[in-house]
Amino acid sequence: MTYEIALIPGDGIGPEVVDRSLPVVEAAADAHGVSLETTRYDWGSDRYLAEGAMMPDDGLDRLRGYDAIFLGAVGHPEVPDHVTLRGLRLEITKGFKQHVCKRPSYLFEGVTGPLRDYGAGEIDFVVYRQNTEGEYADIGGREYRGHDNEVAFQGAMFTREGTETIVRAAFEAASEREGKLTNVTKSNAQAYGMVFWDDVLREIAGEYPDVEVERLLVDAASMDFVRRPDEFDVLVASNLFGDILTDLGAGISGSMGLAPSSNIDPTQTHPSMFEPVHGSAFDITGEGVANPIGTVLSWELLWAHLGEDALARELRAAVRAQLADPDAPRTPDIGGESGSEAVANDLRTRLG
Ligand code: NAD
Ligand code: MN
Repeated sequence: MTYEIALIPGDGIGPEVVDRSLPVVEAAADAHGVSLETTRYDWGSDRYLAEGAMMPDDGLDRLRGYDAIFLGAVGHPEVPDHVTLRGLRLEITKGFKQHVCKRPSYLFEGVTGPLRDYGAGEIDFVVYRQNTEGEYADIGGREYRGHDNEVAFQGAMFTREGTETIVRAAFEAASEREGKLTNVTKSNAQAYGMVFWDDVLREIAGEYPDVEVERLLVDAASMDFVRRPDEFDVLVASNLFGDILTDLGAGISGSMGLAPSSNIDPTQTHPSMFEPVHGSAFDITGEGVANPIGTVLSWELLWAHLGEDALARELRAAVRAQLADPDAPRTPDIGGESGSEAVANDLRTRLG
């Protein structure tokens, strides 16, 4: 089987982690008789600085025919963050109805998280984040510029399609995992969007009688991520809350550099997009120390999504074996002194 993948390495450490992950992924694909054809798109902040746009006007049309898209990261010290985010990542997630952002958090053997007393696999949950609307809807305005009471308004939008899609994806995952779903909202303060969300969730819950639903407000959920992360299995949250909770999830499971992510259109009408959770990390760009594991684990999610389960498992097994080996190279974010390249080279030797 041949898969055509669009690569958008992007900014900062994006190209570093994508380029280090590729030989690992290609070797694993080869061993499984999977042929991988990648096309590289140099879209991102350098393009914005040169031509005024992160991606070309027909960018979505160019991506439409691929089996999947792989993104590194976007973000540049000289370009406002809302330009980089909205001009590329949100353009793709919204344009391709990638309503579902699936982000697993897992504490691997050999990784020391910041929380005491949790062993390998005891932190093991997945957050389903609504990915196309909610608090990231492009609704708002600024009035009375220059007046002493200037006003800025930022709206949030919850549609039935966007909400049902994320909630159903989370119920599906919960019924395949432990039969438990945690619904994270702020329905006490947000009486429109979040109450609508709860109503939709209650309707869909009827289709999944075997899934037990727990409700948590997002502030309490944040505390519980620290206090009892081992009790979570599948969580569902709006765009902003899911974004925040998944950085916390990455933190408590050892490092931002280990966390994978996927942006999925469950109808498969459009290609889905895979990327590490982290951003462009200007603070370490060019130093060759970015952890490539979150990127490799994002490839795991890509292959699982495309139905290449054996290949997905192979990548995960290599990561698991490396992290569990005290003599293996590791990057500074997880307590080592090695560079990205040494980590990637070592992963290759662990395949097969
Ligand atoms: P960040 O994720 O880039 O970095 C946060 C911290 O984690 C930094 O200390 C960084 O060094 C560390 N880190 C991140 N990835 C790492 C890796 N692979 N290995 C080791 N350490 C790693 O978040 P930030 O600093 O808040 O944002 C930097 C830029 O990235 C901003 O422009 C922001 O808008 C953008 N951003 C983009 C995305 C995306 O492309 N999806 C996501 C988050 C942030
Ligand atoms: Mn984020």
